[in-house]
Amino acid sequence: MRDAGFFRRWLEAATAAVEREADRLTELDSPIGDADHGTNLLRGFTAVRAALAAADPSTPPGTLLQLAGRTLISTVGGASGPLYGTLLRRTGKELADAAEVSDAALRQALEAGVNAVGQLGGAAPGDKTMLDALVPAVAALGTSYAAAGEAAQAGALATVPILARKGRASYLGERSVGHQDPGATSSALLLAALAQTAGAADGTGTAEGAGA
Ligand code: ADP
Ligand code: MG
Repeated sequence: MRDAGFFRRWLEAATAAVEREADRLTELDSPIGDADHGTNLLRGFTAVRAALAAADPSTPPGTLLQLAGRTLISTVGGASGPLYGTLLRRTGKELADAAEVSDAALRQALEAGVNAVGQLGGAAPGDKTMLDALVPAVAALGTSYAAAGEAAQAGALATVPILARKGRASYLGERSVGHQDPGATSSALLLAALAQTAGAADGTGTAEGAGA
């Protein structure tokens, strides 16, 4: 079972990964976007860290995720703020107010969260968006957290040859081909952070921050 401390450690690991990779995410957003993805997420996750620190220690997992999601929506701006905000809010809502969450329940909740991202943005896997990392990751959660992290990373790398059909990159048409999607790359960081947190909790370990 995963308690609130697990979710706090996951979000902290995600924040640390965003801090570490912010420049790279912004660089990826430069040829096929407006060069702000790293800055956007750094601002958002820094605010998430502060919001979690201020939250009552007894706050349950689902409420923590909803708080993080609301914080991303209000601070990130850009397409990715509402999308990541929706991911965490919807996932948190699924967990309701349980003090501890089973891996099966977390998997189901994340699946609902990823589906909500697809509904909000109208994108599907293959459109060169964060869903190219999130959808295979959720499918691989049935195997293990490590497999989910690897699937997200593979999904991010696989966006390189894709022609963008959603988001700012889609304005470039053919010129979007040959570049890795920044949002799929940040999604891989979030999943790597989850795999790392689960690996540490379960004593199985995972390669730290494989770096999408
Ligand atoms: P903006 O494009 O507004 O500058 P960001 O740079 O923060 O926002 O985020 C860009 C990322 O958001 C893209 O790389 C892509 O992964 C993701 N994205 C954009 N539009 C969509 C969408 N409709 N559905 C899913 N993901 C999207
Ligand atoms: Mg951008």
